[in-house]
Amino acid sequence: MITSKNILNELFHLSDGDLADLSTRVKHEAHRRTLAATEHVGSEIIGLEMAKRVVTVAVGGGHSVVFVGREGSGKTMLRALAAQLGLTETFEARPCLCGNHGDPHRRCRCTERQLVSHQRHWPRAEIFCEVVAPSEREFRANLRGTSLDEIRAVIDRKGAVPGSFDAAADSLLSYAIREFGLRLPVVDTIRRVARTVAALDRSDVVTSSHLNEAINYRMPD
Ligand SMILES: [Zn+2]
Repeated sequence: MITSKNILNELFHLSDGDLADLSTRVKHEAHRRTLAATEHVGSEIIGLEMAKRVVTVAVGGGHSVVFVGREGSGKTMLRALAAQLGLTETFEARPCLCGNHGDPHRRCRCTERQLVSHQRHWPRAEIFCEVVAPSEREFRANLRGTSLDEIRAVIDRKGAVPGSFDAAADSLLSYAIREFGLRLPVVDTIRRVARTVAALDRSDVVTSSHLNEAINYRMPD
């Protein structure tokens, strides 16, 4: 039986050439699956403004994203939106066994242990986005919201990617590393995503507000 664990064990024995070839094939397969999954889905999304902001940042910096939410929350639509903007390294997962975790309108019936073991199978990506379907009221209050063209305009206006973090951003990062016990690869990803947020803001330095947004997008441990 082919399992991801078997494949990972084999990776250590591959030559650099085979590894590069495999890496390209994996990217192509992720691309093909995203296009197949989102083929018949429209990309004009009602509501879900926070998730659209996540798509803007992901596309702006070419960051992979995983959308987590219950059935019908809008994950596939968000992937279609990202694909239309040129990003196909997107994935989706269900939040927990019962599907209600993280949804303010429903109660999760899973135990802590079930949650942890379920989350272990989520696809890993640079950006994590929890998707909660808008309530009836939010749906009516925000009939359309940000359009595809508006998102594209924000990305097109993007400035140069800044190299440095200001003093407040530096101390916020040190605080977050201590407070959340962030591992080095996670910190690297947060720094890269923060640079993208700053570039979208046309700022020549990464500020604590850019960094704060990037910290909120990290995968839960
Ligand atoms: Zn649950």
